[in-house]
Amino acid sequence: MPDDRKIPHRTVGAEIAEMVTARGWLRDAACLGEDPELFFPLVERETDAQVARARAVCRRCRVLLACRSWAIEQGEDAGIWGATTARQRRAISREKRGGTGRRSAS
Ligand code: SF4
Repeated sequence: MPDDRKIPHRTVGAEIAEMVTARGWLRDAACLGEDPELFFPLVERETDAQVARARAVCRRCRVLLACRSWAIEQGEDAGIWGATTARQRRAISREKRGGTGRRSAS
């Protein structure tokens, strides 16, 4: 059983323990032991100071790409994951699907 206090982004809970077990890469997360609130700013503007601090943690993380891929695949719509905001992840998803995200005029 993982030490719940060291699970990134989240507070304690069996559900989260299962998540970590399923995603072994979380054990190498640089955000282990960081304040989970850091990764869930009230405002997710790329220029926000809290977002910048969270992303600085991510940039020194050995599992950044695995984390980012997971968040995109899951459609995580809140928080900083893999040094991206939810808005950035949506843009990446749209690009992967080949769309621009703009609505058709028709
Ligand atoms: S990339 Fe960031 S959010 Fe993801 S595990 Fe690493 S430190 Fe945590």
